[in-house]
Amino acid sequence: MKTVLHVLSAAFSGSTLLDALLDSQPQAASLGEFAQLWEEKPPGIRRGPCHLCGTDVHECSFWKDLSEANPYAFAFEKTHATVLVDTSKQPSRLTPVPREFAVKAVMLVKTPHEWAASVRAHNRMKGEPTSIEECFFHWTNLHGEILHHCQEGGFLIRYRELTKRTETVLADLCMWAGIQFDPAPVRSGTFWRRNSHALAGNPAVIDQSNDRQSEMIGGRAEWLGGKYLPPERWRQIRYDNSWESDLELRCECERLYRDASPRLRSFLNRLGFGSPEQLAGQVAPNVG
Ligand SMILES: [Zn+2]
Repeated sequence: MKTVLHVLSAAFSGSTLLDALLDSQPQAASLGEFAQLWEEKPPGIRRGPCHLCGTDVHECSFWKDLSEANPYAFAFEKTHATVLVDTSKQPSRLTPVPREFAVKAVMLVKTPHEWAASVRAHNRMKGEPTSIEECFFHWTNLHGEILHHCQEGGFLIRYRELTKRTETVLADLCMWAGIQFDPAPVRSGTFWRRNSHALAGNPAVIDQSNDRQSEMIGGRAEWLGGKYLPPERWRQIRYDNSWESDLELRCECERLYRDASPRLRSFLNRLGFGSPEQLAGQVAPNVG
């Protein structure tokens, strides 16, 4: 049966990587952030842009012919895929799926300390510093929404496992989604070469796949302090362990885990991260 996969995650949780991995599979095609088709943008901000064309959705060779009446039927027909991937991330941004297609939810999650390190790096780059306490607050709210949306079940992926055991996680996900798994694009590292006119996502990753720098603030050299340099590093799957060397972040996260609210405790447990006390032990700087 034709199936739409909804990828739910907080921004900066690895969804662009997961989107590219799924897009590399022969029976799947990615739409990227499908919600970009409908969302109004402030003047001068492009909708999309498309990963392949690098243009606004109105100029993309794929999306310009879109039939608004049934956009999923349009995309299934044009891509010949069995599974379409919508990486709009937030439950409130999802486009309703007609009854003729199945819909399945995929949750992609980082721990609060992994997530805080990424959010703070991006916000520092934009000159908008964010406290670790704010990150924990937002993490709790965003993951509460995702868990609420996925009460009927969903496929849970923890970011660390996606980066450390990519092939196993992707094989399990494909089996669950009902499509054949091809390990070749992961093993050869060619999964970055996008086939689909996927929309939006992490600008650094989109630009990597087409060797552009157009969406990165200040270009590749400036983006996250050159995190994506040298070029050989772009296409490697690496666990972002920047939290490990940030002692201030580790101390503050330890404190916040020890003071965890019942909501935070419940969400950590339901996402398979263990108890806040276990996480406090993992981030405590003087242990081990
Ligand atoms: Zn395009």
